[in-house]
Amino acid sequence: MGSRAVTDPYARKRQRLVGKVQAQGIRDPRVLAAVSRVPRHRFVPAAVVQRAYEDNALPIGYGQTISQPSLQALYLETLEIEPEDRVLEVGAGSGYQTALLAELSSNVYAVERITELTQRAREVLDELGYTNVALVTKDGTTGWAKYAPYDSILVGAAAPRVPDALVEQLKVGGRLLIPIGDRHHQQLTLVRKVTDEGTDEQVITGCVFVPLIGRFGWPG
Ligand code: SAH
Repeated sequence: MGSRAVTDPYARKRQRLVGKVQAQGIRDPRVLAAVSRVPRHRFVPAAVVQRAYEDNALPIGYGQTISQPSLQALYLETLEIEPEDRVLEVGAGSGYQTALLAELSSNVYAVERITELTQRAREVLDELGYTNVALVTKDGTTGWAKYAPYDSILVGAAAPRVPDALVEQLKVGGRLLIPIGDRHHQQLTLVRKVTDEGTDEQVITGCVFVPLIGRFGWPG
């Protein structure tokens, strides 16, 4: 038995999760490698830890959910994140998607509106040694101007419309992936900032997310 098996009893389950993510159509080897490395069981509450490597959303407390891993991988594949990219994540939740991002890019900025989730995510990210992540409690519908402009912005909660501040904080050529729709159903929408003034939009897939609550999102 290798030392890895001793230190990480979930390693085999995690390899099977990589297969499930591939079965959902994800092909980017860097994304699959990130899924194979990040210990998802560390980001979910003890009550659901046995289900951590299912390809399902799971409750993380405070009425929030960690999304389905294949959907999180779809975000990363769609955004084509490069190692030097500056990336903003809105709605860090458990911090799992943040960790996947930190595997792909050296400059990850993440915001979460629920203080307790921010604290828990930061603890786990610190324990796992992700030093390339800045994470704060903040209303992400206004972005995070301090580190703008970004190459990519990921929004992990559903908005009624695209918040202007997020488009403003993108580089020209940058990409924003955000679920847009009503409270019950949304379209995962890729917004590309083509020029300083102009964007184009492409619907990637239908989806269901918890609401983005804030100044330019839904009322709390
Ligand atoms: N991708 C996350 C799950 C996101 S669930 C994961 O891997 O766990 C969506 C998260 O968005 C929730 O934690 C919710 O609190 C947060 N959220 C909702 N509105 C927000 C806002 N305006 N700013 C920042 N975070 C927000």
